[in-house]
Amino acid sequence: MSLAKRILDMEESPTLAVSAKAKALRAAGEPVIGFGAGEPDFPTPTHVVEAAQRAAADPVNRRYSPAAGLAGLREAVADQTATSSGMELGPDNVVITNGGKHALYAIFLALLDPGDEVLVPAPYWVSYPEQIKLADGVPVALPTGTDTGFEVSVDQLEAARTERTKALVFVSPSNPTGTVYGPDAVARIGAWAAQHGIWVIADEIYQHLVYGGASFTSLPAAAPAAADRTIIASGVAKTYAMTGWRVGWAVAPREVAGGIAKLQSQATSNVCNVAQAAALAALTGPQDDVVAMREAFDRRRRTAVDKLSAIPGVTVAEPQGAFYVFPSFEGVLGREIAGRRVDDTLQLAELLLDEVKVAVVPGEAFGAPGYARLSYALGDDDLAEGIDRIAKLLSG
Ligand code: GLU
Repeated sequence: MSLAKRILDMEESPTLAVSAKAKALRAAGEPVIGFGAGEPDFPTPTHVVEAAQRAAADPVNRRYSPAAGLAGLREAVADQTATSSGMELGPDNVVITNGGKHALYAIFLALLDPGDEVLVPAPYWVSYPEQIKLADGVPVALPTGTDTGFEVSVDQLEAARTERTKALVFVSPSNPTGTVYGPDAVARIGAWAAQHGIWVIADEIYQHLVYGGASFTSLPAAAPAAADRTIIASGVAKTYAMTGWRVGWAVAPREVAGGIAKLQSQATSNVCNVAQAAALAALTGPQDDVVAMREAFDRRRRTAVDKLSAIPGVTVAEPQGAFYVFPSFEGVLGREIAGRRVDDTLQLAELLLDEVKVAVVPGEAFGAPGYARLSYALGDDDLAEGIDRIAKLLSG
């Protein structure tokens, strides 16, 4: 085998794999309902698409631009992040990346030396551990469950801290659980990180997607002492239905931002100028579409929770943010369903796809066997029909 060990050792992204499989089956005429990848079903707002069309027509955008991003976009990101985080930020603190995922990868590469440990509360988004390993770091998973609403505690963090602990990945609203930490919990975690000189990598990609009484708290806003070691990753994909445009960013203290920009100068050069112009329009233009999409997600969230919790053996913690629901299927495992033995959620996910054409991501992908993730960023009718199919199979 001629592939490098780093590639042989890594897992392919299961969220992308489930979504690709569902899309392929659909294209082949199968009536598949995909709860896989977190991808809004809405169109990108019209004014954003028009901004991209204008940018594509401007010859200046057909040339290389600064590797760290277009000045106007860096400034807009710095302004908005300064407002939400309370940090003092300018364009030099911002690097525009090829999506939020790429921001995270660049952050790990810029920050970690071989053997550095990164605390990753579980259930975690699938790409954190793999990216940390690619950067020669060591992911340290900290399991959480429904008993704490999937929140990690300072006691857990402290118990896992060693001399090699370099950073903590903090994500709220959380993918995959939808947990939104309250300001007091965020303050406690931030204060702990500041006290021990631990970097916080705050994934804020779902910051605009919170529901009911929940509100988003940026970690440095609640724990200003942590600000000089906080790096924020975010992007336009989820808020503006722009998953395919691939524009994200890292916001970091200048030295780190400079390191990421240097990496980018060798690895990728600038992100597509047309996509950056679209992202700028999204951030600075009218926000009505964001409000409408959030209302739709909230409605779907309530439908998903109601319908899933009515299935015998399935328990659901109500998510307060992002667009995922993360039910436990423990109560339906360990028996035969439709003539097949189902002992874990990997087998359950396979069964759901084979028998009722419903794609979900098994909890194993997020370090949480016994659960499965369903994205509710799909249309209302598909959502209801998909959960009805699951209910029928599991109750049969
Ligand atoms: N972040 C989304 C998800 O978790 C998109 C897919 C991916 O990049 O993993 O489904």
